[in-house]
Amino acid sequence: MRIVILGAGLAGVTSAWELVRDGHEVTVIDREIEVANFSSYANAGLIAPGHAFAWASPDAPKIMLKSFWNNDQAIRFRPKFDIHQWQWIIKFLGQCNNTRSRINTEHKVRLCSYSQRCLNEVVSATNLSYERTTGGLIYFYLSKKSFEAAARKSKLLVEFGLHIEALDTHSLTELDPGLKSARNEIAGGLYVASDESGDSRIFTQELAKICQSDGVHFEMGTTVHQLVHKSNTICAVDTSAGHIEGDMFVMALGVHSANLLRPLGINLPIYPVKGYSVTLPIMPRHNPPKFGGVDEDNLLAYCPMGDHFRITATAEIGGYDTSFKPRDFNTMMAKARTLMPEAADYNNPQYWACLRPMTPTGLPFIDKSHVPNLWLNTGHGHMGWTMACGSARILADLIAGRPTAIPRQGMTLMTSEKK
Ligand SMILES: Cc1cc2nc3c(=O)[nH]c(=O)nc-3n(C[C@H](O)[C@H](O)[C@H](O)COP(=O)(O)OP(=O)(O)OC[C@H]3O[C@@H](n4cnc5c(N)ncnc54)[C@H](O)[C@@H]3O)c2cc1C
Repeated sequence: MRIVILGAGLAGVTSAWELVRDGHEVTVIDREIEVANFSSYANAGLIAPGHAFAWASPDAPKIMLKSFWNNDQAIRFRPKFDIHQWQWIIKFLGQCNNTRSRINTEHKVRLCSYSQRCLNEVVSATNLSYERTTGGLIYFYLSKKSFEAAARKSKLLVEFGLHIEALDTHSLTELDPGLKSARNEIAGGLYVASDESGDSRIFTQELAKICQSDGVHFEMGTTVHQLVHKSNTICAVDTSAGHIEGDMFVMALGVHSANLLRPLGINLPIYPVKGYSVTLPIMPRHNPPKFGGVDEDNLLAYCPMGDHFRITATAEIGGYDTSFKPRDFNTMMAKARTLMPEAADYNNPQYWACLRPMTPTGLPFIDKSHVPNLWLNTGHGHMGWTMACGSARILADLIAGRPTAIPRQGMTLMTSEKK
C-alpha cells in the first residue's frame, strides 16, 4: 500500500517506522524543513508511565479558575473568542470527576507502559542513541503535606501495575546526589525505577534517517492545505508542492490535526496546551541531577540530556500562539536555580515554547475514521514522547488487521467518554 503520513513529529515518524517494516510504501509530509521541529522539539524528555495521571481531575476546575488571578497555577485557562476552545473546555470539565479520572488514568498507564516496551524494541532493533538515561525518574515534593497526599494517590498507579517507592529526603539525595543542594527544601519524593528519559528530537531525527534508508520518502517544507476526497475516500493531499496521492492516509499533525479534519465532518477534541522549555549547557564544573524528574510543588519538569539540562513548565489553554519573551521564563528559571544551582549554566539559556495536542481525556486517537482510508494517530497531549512508539505499533496493527496488544479504550472515535 502507498501510505501518506501527515506530520513528521514523534507520532508521524514512529508510524512511518512501523509501517515501512510492514512492507508499505511510505511518504511523510511536514511543513518544517527538519523532522521534529514543532511539539516534539524540546519537550521535557521524560518517558514517564509513573506520571500518567489524567490532567482532568476533580481538582482541575479549581486550579483553572484560580489561574484568572494567580499566574502560578498548574493549568492556566486563557479564554479566547474561539468556539473550539470552549467546546474543548466543556468536554475537559466533563472528565473532571473521580470516576473518569480513574478510568482515564488506567488507560493512560496501560498505553504508556506498553509504549515504553515498544520503545525498547525500537532501540534494540536500531541501536539509536538519543541521550537516553534509564534507571528511573524522581517526583519530589517540597511540603510534607503534598508528599503524603502524593504517596496516597500513587497507590492508584501501583494498582495498575507500576512499582513506586516513596523515599525520604536522605534516601532521595543518596539516590541522586544532583539534588543535594535542595535537601533542606525537599520533603520527600516518589521514585519510579522503571521510568526513563531521552531527547525526543534526536530520537525522532535519528529514527527518520533509518526510515529514509529503509525507503520512506520525506516531503519536508511542504504544507498540507486539505485532504482531497472522491466518493467517500481520500485520493490525495493538497499541499504547497501540489497533490500527493496515496492509498491510505494517516493524520499525525498534532495540534493542527483537528482543523484539517473538520471539513470532512470529523470533529476531534484536540486543543493546544502551551508549555515553556529552557535548555542549559552543562559544563565539567556542573553537577546536574543524575535522573530526570518533576518538582511537583513548583510543577517543573527537569532532565539531564548529555551535555544539556532541560527544564519545562506551565500548561496554558490559550490558543495556538507559540510566541514567548525571555521574561516568561523568569519564574521557572528562578525556581530551578534555587533548588539545583549547580545543575547547569543558567546564564546561557535556550528558550522554547510549544503546544501539547491535548484531548480532554489525555488519551490520543488511534483509529480509523469514517472515511475508510483515513487513519488517526494524534492527540498525545502531555505524554506524546512516552506514548509514541506504542501508539505507532497499535496503528500499524490496526492497518494490518492484526489484534492490538492492548485494548484501545478511550482511543477510538466512538468512545462515549470523548463525546
Ligand atoms: C513543554 C512540553 C513538555 C513536554 N514534555 C513531555 C515529556 O516529558 N514527556 C512526554 O511524553 N511528552 C512530553 N510533551 C508532549 C510531547 O512533546 C507531544 O505530545 C508530542 O511531541 C506530540 O507529537 P506529535 O507528533 O503528535 O506532534 P508534533 O511533534 O507537533 O508533529 C506534528 C507535525 O505536523 C506538522 N504540521 C502541522 N500542521 C501542518 C500542515 N498544515 N502541513 C504540514 N505539516 C504540518 C508540524 O510541523 C509538526 O512537525 C511535552 C510537550 C511540551 C510542549
